[in-house]
Amino acid sequence: MLGIVFDFLFPKKCYGCGEYGKDLCGKCFRELSIADQICPECGEESPMGWTHEECKKKLGMDGLIVIYDYQDVKMRSIIDGIKFDFNKELVERVLKNFRFETGENFDYLVSVPLYFYRENWRGFNQAEEMASVVGRKMEVEVKEILRRKQKTKQQSLILGREMREKNVKGVFEVRKNFKKKLRGKRVLLVDDVFTSGADMRECTKILKKEGVRVVWGLALAH
Ligand SMILES: [Zn+2]
Ligand SMILES: [Zn+2]
Repeated sequence: MLGIVFDFLFPKKCYGCGEYGKDLCGKCFRELSIADQICPECGEESPMGWTHEECKKKLGMDGLIVIYDYQDVKMRSIIDGIKFDFNKELVERVLKNFRFETGENFDYLVSVPLYFYRENWRGFNQAEEMASVVGRKMEVEVKEILRRKQKTKQQSLILGREMREKNVKGVFEVRKNFKKKLRGKRVLLVDDVFTSGADMRECTKILKKEGVRVVWGLALAH
């Protein structure tokens, strides 16, 4: 009942085309551009998102799955809706037909921790929200293994891959209760957008130093 009243007071509008009715209409959903898969280490195209053989590093990512193309204006509007309007239904909607195969069976799904101030201000973490939806679909446990130990500048305000890498260096850590429990585990890291990939690569390094064997990333768009 409350939902009906709410819809009446604030009618839903499609984030893609602005039409009233749904958060994302069927037409816009079908028209979303699917991403080309890339190597998470160098950012160049790679079939199935596998890390290129020549890009493989001991503490590097093993692969990356990206669902949508961030160049698509509709996708940008949807991601803003998730981030700034805290729209959980939109997360469900864009992940609706989502299926992928990496050849790995993951032990844990872990979201990339947000910047402190943003998380506090919103009380909503879109990466966590995504992880819980994907976790349910894949039947993989979602664990908050990582935390951000210091405040950093927002990555989107920093230009260049090298500077972004510097900005997140050493800012993540494995939570105390997971120390010494990650040996040989396979982790799927989740974030909303993969741009430079600096955050995911830094999280991977921390996890692998702790003994995690395989790390793949999953991003809604790049
Ligand atoms: Zn639409
Ligand atoms: Zn590569």
